[in-house]
Amino acid sequence: MLQQRTLKSLTRAVGVGLHSGQRVELTLRPAPIDTGIVFRRVDLANPVDIPVNAQSVCDTRMASTISPNGDPGLPKVNTIEHLMSACAGLGLDNLIVDITAEEVPILDGSSASFVYLLQSAGIELQKAPKRFIKVIKPVEVREGEGRTLKWARLDPYHGYKLAFEIDFDHPAVDQTGQRVEFDFSSGQYKRDIARARTFGFAKDFEVMRARGLGLGGGMDNAIVVDDHRVLNSDGLRYDDEFVKHKILDAIGDLYVVGRPLLAAYSAYKSGHALNNVLLRALLADPSAYEIVTFDDEAKAPKGMAELAPAW
Ligand SMILES: [Zn+2]
Repeated sequence: MLQQRTLKSLTRAVGVGLHSGQRVELTLRPAPIDTGIVFRRVDLANPVDIPVNAQSVCDTRMASTISPNGDPGLPKVNTIEHLMSACAGLGLDNLIVDITAEEVPILDGSSASFVYLLQSAGIELQKAPKRFIKVIKPVEVREGEGRTLKWARLDPYHGYKLAFEIDFDHPAVDQTGQRVEFDFSSGQYKRDIARARTFGFAKDFEVMRARGLGLGGGMDNAIVVDDHRVLNSDGLRYDDEFVKHKILDAIGDLYVVGRPLLAAYSAYKSGHALNNVLLRALLADPSAYEIVTFDDEAKAPKGMAELAPAW
């Protein structure tokens, strides 16, 4: 049987929020079968649990933000996507995330630090079948037209793969690549995707700071570009790091559905908002998906049965 997974032991991280610049502590804890991923605001007098699911996403303007049932009036956690991406990359089903502020720490701007933390805690198999959402009918969402067109879609596929294209008119991106594909059957999430950092223009960081956002952002946790080049002195981690980060984000955005997908995702200039619209469109059509388990691991798509090797 292909089993659910949680952590073997708890692990902690301390960092700052990208937007708030606030110090925040995370404690990642093992969780029972069928818990899913639950954020717990332990800084509040009465701690509030926020289970992650497609309906809990309440804001996608700068990052993916969740609150209980997506109610914007209730306590929130924002910038969950890199941690969610790491959980998807390691196939973690059940996890409690204690957090002491409203924003997940940005750490190095990628998901590599989260992968390292989760793998250091160890991964434990649980005695219950891992449930997948198998896409059985294409689902597509579009926004805008001409130069503002964006789209994202899911197609049936025995496995999980993603293809992402950006159209970022910048000399540093033109040289490196606007399109990337990643298939989970390679087993190489950590090597090929996890290290890709978020990116932004130096001038946008200034505008954000003036609005009280991006206060924790800088070259330690983002690729910063001006109109001509990458400003980080150590350059890029991957030649196509920009578009790889968009795949990293999409993996995290889609994992808020609470179960791993069996699907081929493809997208053009999508982002947190459109990825969430895509998930809601999938869930709104019960004939577009089914929940599946694998009694026989040999029948599971390649890459889904293997635990990621220790860091
Ligand atoms: Zn990101």
